[in-house]
Amino acid sequence: MLAELRASWYEFDHLDEAQWQRLAGLAARFLAAKRIVGAAGFEVDETVRWTIGLLACLPVLELGLRAYSDFVDVIVYPDRFLVDRSQTDEAGVVHESRDILSGEAMDLGPVVLAWSDILEDRERPGACVIVHEFVHKLDMAGGSADGVPVGAESRSPGWRRVLEASYEEFCGRLDAIEAAIPAHVDPESPAADAWYGQLGLDPYAATDPVEFFAVAGEAFFSDPWQLHAGFPALFEAMQRYFGQDPRQGTDGPAAPDRDQAPAA
Ligand SMILES: [Zn+2]
Repeated sequence: MLAELRASWYEFDHLDEAQWQRLAGLAARFLAAKRIVGAAGFEVDETVRWTIGLLACLPVLELGLRAYSDFVDVIVYPDRFLVDRSQTDEAGVVHESRDILSGEAMDLGPVVLAWSDILEDRERPGACVIVHEFVHKLDMAGGSADGVPVGAESRSPGWRRVLEASYEEFCGRLDAIEAAIPAHVDPESPAADAWYGQLGLDPYAATDPVEFFAVAGEAFFSDPWQLHAGFPALFEAMQRYFGQDPRQGTDGPAAPDRDQAPAA
């Protein structure tokens, strides 16, 4: 089954045999220490356990499992799940909201995942909800969630500066794209994808630096050439931090026409 999982996720394509064996060993320790719990009738089988174990451990292949020591449970829903929130603002007003989520990571608490979205990620370069949520865990293990994961400044000096500059750059690009979408195109409709597709990262990354880091972390492992093309400094900072180069041994982007003058 492990060979089958390795073949069905391009997130593992850059690993050589020795790295893959280490990842499998790490995942086995992860699965021995955590409870993978089905919710809403979802049945957890060995494929579910190992899919989550392997993809959760991928970001910490060179960092170790210590960053994941603040929780035991990984809860898996069959589909996207509803979360009701209640927040009190500075004026004391309580705001109730309801979100539909494909994943959630709680500080000092469980990671929650939707199996339907995990499976869809196999067809969506740049998206991997498991990596996304466990990158949040690395961020939380570095103190408060702020886009600076545990050990970032020692493994990848200048991390905060690079992350914040990349985030500002991304928000600027998003603003420019939103301004360029013609008035007759509904920004929420699929027709707007032609514009948002130029961003290289899901627009959700503009939410705040925490989500930017998690979305870029997904892209680092599941669409590395695209992230490298869009945010080379951030890619290199992540390469130092994660101690991996997901571009290795994988097909690059379409070869650029070298006779052409570089774009200004
Ligand atoms: Zn997130």
